[in-house]
Amino acid sequence: MPTPLPAPYFVAASSRAAALVGIAPSALEQADFVAAFTGNRLLPGSEPLAAVYSGHQFGVWAGQLGDGRAILLGELDGPEGRMELQLKGAGKTPYSRMGDGRAVLRSSIREFLCSEAMAALGIPTTRALVVTGSHQRVMRENIETAAVVTRMAPSFVRFGSFEHWHYRDKPDELKTLADYVIDGFYPELRDVDNPYKALLAEVTKRTARMIAAWQSVGFMHGVMNTDNMSILGLTLDYGPFGFMEAFDVNHICNHTDQGGRYSYANQVAIGHWNCYALGNALLPLIGTVEAAQEALDVYMPVFEAKLDELLHAKLGLSTYDAGDRALFDSLFTIMQGSHVDFTLLFRRLGDLRVDAPETDAPLRDLFIDRAAFDDWAVRYRARLRRENSVDAERRGAMNRVNPKYVLRNYLAQQAIERAQNGDYGGVRELLAVLEQPFDEQPEHEHYAALPPDWAAHLEVSCSS
Ligand code: AMP
Ligand code: MG
Repeated sequence: MPTPLPAPYFVAASSRAAALVGIAPSALEQADFVAAFTGNRLLPGSEPLAAVYSGHQFGVWAGQLGDGRAILLGELDGPEGRMELQLKGAGKTPYSRMGDGRAVLRSSIREFLCSEAMAALGIPTTRALVVTGSHQRVMRENIETAAVVTRMAPSFVRFGSFEHWHYRDKPDELKTLADYVIDGFYPELRDVDNPYKALLAEVTKRTARMIAAWQSVGFMHGVMNTDNMSILGLTLDYGPFGFMEAFDVNHICNHTDQGGRYSYANQVAIGHWNCYALGNALLPLIGTVEAAQEALDVYMPVFEAKLDELLHAKLGLSTYDAGDRALFDSLFTIMQGSHVDFTLLFRRLGDLRVDAPETDAPLRDLFIDRAAFDDWAVRYRARLRRENSVDAERRGAMNRVNPKYVLRNYLAQQAIERAQNGDYGGVRELLAVLEQPFDEQPEHEHYAALPPDWAAHLEVSCSS
């Protein structure tokens, strides 16, 4: 059961998430709903539960973890199917271990904003319905206050949910869980030859596509432990995530991750590693190592095909050419050389005019090494001419895939600091901006700006 919090208050709600479960967004501000989504009052028909799972943390088997501060309220039917509703931060559960079962306002706002920002970018993710807060104190590095974020997903089952039963040598429970996932979420796999192998292959594919999408917007998850990997291929558990600003392929967004296991570059291979952990857990059901290996082997080809598709769109290319890969690679090389802001670069690339290099300044000026950009631009222009690319059309298409607005750490930080002072307007405004990431929003131009100097020292850790 959730543990109530004193005097809960409303912070922010997502009207888009609310639409998925047929709740009127305005209702979420009402006292009854605030109480319900803080865990102070049960919704009718709700039978709360916390789920057990285990997992590999930073590559090491960590044993039993489980929903230490997440409590499932139940399921709601909506226009796009059934959604599970889960409170995060609603008090201790049987799996809280040494934890307090709570989440702080800072981390709840970060999870809320990023879930909805990722959804608006078209990246598979769990959703966030509402954030509520309380003055109750919570100890982290500093004293902070408690908050609850209500998350939604068709399922919160994780790779670690399977690892749990496998490592406990409980084949019946493992099969029950696998059958539940197949019947509920992969029904098309029920009648194939080896449904468990097919499940592994399908999850591996979804994971590969999800990570290609992360790479394409510069998103870094920060804690890709197997207990944070969704069996539906959704981005799950937003902690020390980050969006790439000054491009560095080895950037580590999580201060706690000193070895860089989950750096921008490494998260691709780690996604595959995590699928191996899932494959290992499913092995008793799949039957042979060869079959599991076959399912896992789809990862890199699917990842590369998806990233290739996304990069073609990001560069406004509508045809495929054998040299495109080299063109993309050399773009990333010069981005690395000049530590160019990831989001600004791709957005401004849309303004490039094939026959007017003299108008390149806003783009060119992002590079310390202007000559490197000029060389690359010659190749890019030649490539665009080969497919008779039309500036205005290409610009429109590129602006539909290269976001202008992403959740930069400093933007989250500013909204959080206002919220910590009792002003939730910043969170709500930022949500509204991030819901239209591809649109020009002249009144919100400042949200697209480079981070200020103070933000260079912002660090995010696992503390949440
Ligand atoms: P995370 O790194 O946030 O994915 O958390 C790893 C594990 O620790 C999960 O099982 C969480 O439920 C648990 N956990 C994290 N923070 C707390 C907390 N404050 N109280 C109880 N459990 C927690
Ligand atoms: Mg987690």
